[in-house]
Amino acid sequence: MVEPELVVAPVNREGMIRQKQHDYYFIRLKAVAGDLTATQMACIALVAERYGRGVVHLSTRQGIEIHHVHHDNLEDARRVLQVAGVQMGASGTRVRVIVACPGEATCKFGSIDTKKIAKELDTRFFNQEAPSKFKMAVTGCANNCTKANENDIGVRGAIEPEWTSTSCCDCGLCVKFCPAKAIERRESGSNGTREFAYTIDRESCINCSVCTQHCPGEAWVVGRQGYTLFIGGTMGKIPRFASVLKKLVESEEELYELIQKALTCHRQHGQKKERFGHMIDRIGIDKVKEEILGGN
Ligand code: SF4
Ligand code: SF4
Ligand code: SF4
Repeated sequence: MVEPELVVAPVNREGMIRQKQHDYYFIRLKAVAGDLTATQMACIALVAERYGRGVVHLSTRQGIEIHHVHHDNLEDARRVLQVAGVQMGASGTRVRVIVACPGEATCKFGSIDTKKIAKELDTRFFNQEAPSKFKMAVTGCANNCTKANENDIGVRGAIEPEWTSTSCCDCGLCVKFCPAKAIERRESGSNGTREFAYTIDRESCINCSVCTQHCPGEAWVVGRQGYTLFIGGTMGKIPRFASVLKKLVESEEELYELIQKALTCHRQHGQKKERFGHMIDRIGIDKVKEEILGGN
C-alpha cells in the first residue's frame, strides 16, 4: 500500500493544497507582482466553473485560488490552466510567489520598477527550498503598500535627497512635511551676512522622497537612489518587523546577490520550520549582517 504522504507531497509542491473536505483541494495560482492577463483571468474563471464551485478566492498576497476541486480533476484543471500560461503557485517550505505594488510604471510616488524586480526575483528564486516558507515583496516607495517589512525579504524604493541652496526660498515646508523629522534649518554668519542651510540627519532619514517631491523651489533634488533591503519580517503567530540589511543598495545586481546570500544564510542556520526572522533573533542580527554583507 502507498503511504499517504507519498501521494500528497508531490501534489502540494505544485500549489495544490488539501482542503479539510475529504478528497478536495484548492489550487493556488501564480501571479507574479499580482499580474495576470485578461485571457488568463477568463481561463481561471472557466476552470473555477468547470472543476470548482464557480468561485475564486483572492489571497492576501495577490494570489488567486480555485477552491473545491476534487482530487480526480486536479490534473485536468492544471492542463486547462497551462494552455493560457497560468502556472501553479508555491506552498510548503519554499520561496513563495513574489508580491509587488505597481511601482514607478503607474504610481506617481514610485521610484523603482517594482514589476521588473519582482519578475527577476521570480526567475532567480521562486520555489527554491528553504527551512520554512520564504516570502518576498517589492514596494515602490516608503508608503510601503506591499508591506515589505512583513516579508522574509523586502525591497523598497529609496532615494537620497540633496539640498541646493540656490533655489531655496526658505519657506520651511520641508521641515514640516518630513515624516521622519530628519530635516533641520541651520543659520550661520554674522554682521548682516546671515546665511541659512537645510540639512538632513541621514540616520533618521527614511529615503522617502517627500522632500524632493514637495519642495516648491525644487531645492531638494534626488541624489543617490536605489533600494532599501529588509530581511526577516514575518506575520503569523509570532510577528516580527524586518530589520534593515542595507539602507541603500545602488545596483540591481548587488540587490540580487544580497538576497541570494540571505537565502543561503537561512538555509545554513535555520531550523526546520523556523522563519528567517526568528532565526535572526536566535543567532543575532550582527552575525547575520556580517555573513550576508561581507565586503558589500
Ligand atoms: S508603495 Fe509607493 S509606489 Fe508602490 S503603490 Fe504604494 S505609493 Fe505607489
Ligand atoms: S521646502 Fe524647499 S524651498 Fe522650502 S525651505 Fe525646504 S528646501 Fe527650501
Ligand atoms: S527623504 Fe523623506 S525622510 Fe528623508 S529628509 Fe526627505 S522627507 Fe525627510
